[in-house]
Amino acid sequence: MKKNTFLFSFLVLILSSCMKGEKVDLIVHNAVIFTMNNESSIQEAMAIRNGKIIEVGPERQILNKYRSDQTIDAKGKDIYPGFTDAHGHLLLYAQQKLTLDLVDSKSLNEVLVRCEKYKSLKGKDFIVGTGWDQSLWGTNDLPTNAELNKLFPSIPVCLYRIDGHAALVNDCLLKKANITAASFVDGGEVSLDQNGKSTGILIDNAIGLVEASIPKFSDADLSKAIIEIQEELFQYGITGVHEAGIDYRHISLFRNMVKNGSLKLDVYAMLRMSKENLNFAKKYGQFRYKNLSIQSFKVWADGALGSRGAYLKKSYDDAAHSHGLLLTSVKELKDMAQFCIENDYQMNTHGIGDSANALVLEIYKDAFQKKKDHRFRIEHAQVIDPNDFKKFADYSVFPSVQPTHAVSDQRWAINRIGAERIKGAYAYKTLLSQFGMLAIGTDFPIERTNPFLTIHAAVQRRTATDESIEGFYMNEAISLEEVLRGMTIWAAFASFQENKLGSLEKGKDATFVIFERKVQSQVKFQQNYSWMTFVKGLIVYDANEL
Ligand SMILES: [Zn+2]
Repeated sequence: MKKNTFLFSFLVLILSSCMKGEKVDLIVHNAVIFTMNNESSIQEAMAIRNGKIIEVGPERQILNKYRSDQTIDAKGKDIYPGFTDAHGHLLLYAQQKLTLDLVDSKSLNEVLVRCEKYKSLKGKDFIVGTGWDQSLWGTNDLPTNAELNKLFPSIPVCLYRIDGHAALVNDCLLKKANITAASFVDGGEVSLDQNGKSTGILIDNAIGLVEASIPKFSDADLSKAIIEIQEELFQYGITGVHEAGIDYRHISLFRNMVKNGSLKLDVYAMLRMSKENLNFAKKYGQFRYKNLSIQSFKVWADGALGSRGAYLKKSYDDAAHSHGLLLTSVKELKDMAQFCIENDYQMNTHGIGDSANALVLEIYKDAFQKKKDHRFRIEHAQVIDPNDFKKFADYSVFPSVQPTHAVSDQRWAINRIGAERIKGAYAYKTLLSQFGMLAIGTDFPIERTNPFLTIHAAVQRRTATDESIEGFYMNEAISLEEVLRGMTIWAAFASFQENKLGSLEKGKDATFVIFERKVQSQVKFQQNYSWMTFVKGLIVYDANEL
């Protein structure tokens, strides 16, 4: 009798689930759903229709109220809104994939060996490489092209430093691009040796002198590489990227990829400051096409700390007469801010040195007086004079930071800026306390795309292998909840998309990720992957299918 009762109730359950309830496209249940809403509420199940969330709530409530042909049992796993990388370079990464990979080279010699192998394997008559970093070679000094000239006397070679703020080129390319020791460029430097001869190192805007001589990649090659990157991002649960600086010709590349359905990531693309891009903004205003949004400019105030291009108030601790470089003039920065306010665009300025940051904050002050909710960002906000932190709150300036930079740079940053200035560097907790939000990203391909390295760097202030050493200035660590907000709802605010992205709530896009393992942070690095990634209710990555 007992058995029959059980069978009966089981049948009723089946029948009722088939017959009753409002029809939806997808039900996800038996989950721990971190909604990232204002109350940080945690729920168990979700109903989805037409790519939107219809309701998030307790297991029984959702299963009773809705029915669907597609139901996913999340097996008690964590669900988060799809992560956004609030500062990444899809195009640079794509270009890196199409060129010689120099990442993690342990010496200049290894760089040269990789160049030789590449040349003999690919038979190229032009070598372009990306990713060397002299700080991994046990030296502070940038390399010279002496060996490169011996190996490649007659074909041009251009090797970009990992941060893109310096390039090592051979004499053949210098000649081809008509660069001499006397070449001068604002916001850049053609590096010279004691005899006044070029060392082959070009810094910041000087890199532009060789760019016209370098072969361009076809759209087909770039698209293929971007799709590869998209796969990599989906497996980490990343569904959106704030692309930090594209040229005019890349607008149509992205648009075509969205049109043919191959680009599923939400791409918030910042335009580089060029005449064509300014005309585009004037003509189209805020441009939105499905999952592509263009309504911001990326401007470079200064260079990078690694190549001593960051613009500092006082000179470098390890280069007595250098203050770094201002890449864009004060007038141009002011004009850009004015243009952005007039055209309802956002201005996102790369600011590394304390002087560059101070300058940008003052320029943003004017913007704040004209429009309170301008959401102008400072990308990196890396070294800040303690007196200037308050201005992030006063002028409503959005800090956009990359915690993995802090732990990558900890080996040498103190050599550049000394023990005093370092206290205001990579100061994420202080920045958060001022503005109340952080947009968090990686700056890939300078750092890895892996968001779990970001979580670890933000909360533990360590690299994945730093278990045994103390975290880097732990007073600037932020909490797990805060870093996750930085990659979800705050990133949505940083791109004016908080009404559709960044949290799992009724009416928002059903863009979310079910993670393999619990999302947590401990001294020992916790690697994790997506179990399933969804964009607007559709599966874009499924680990079970691999
Ligand atoms: Zn960047």
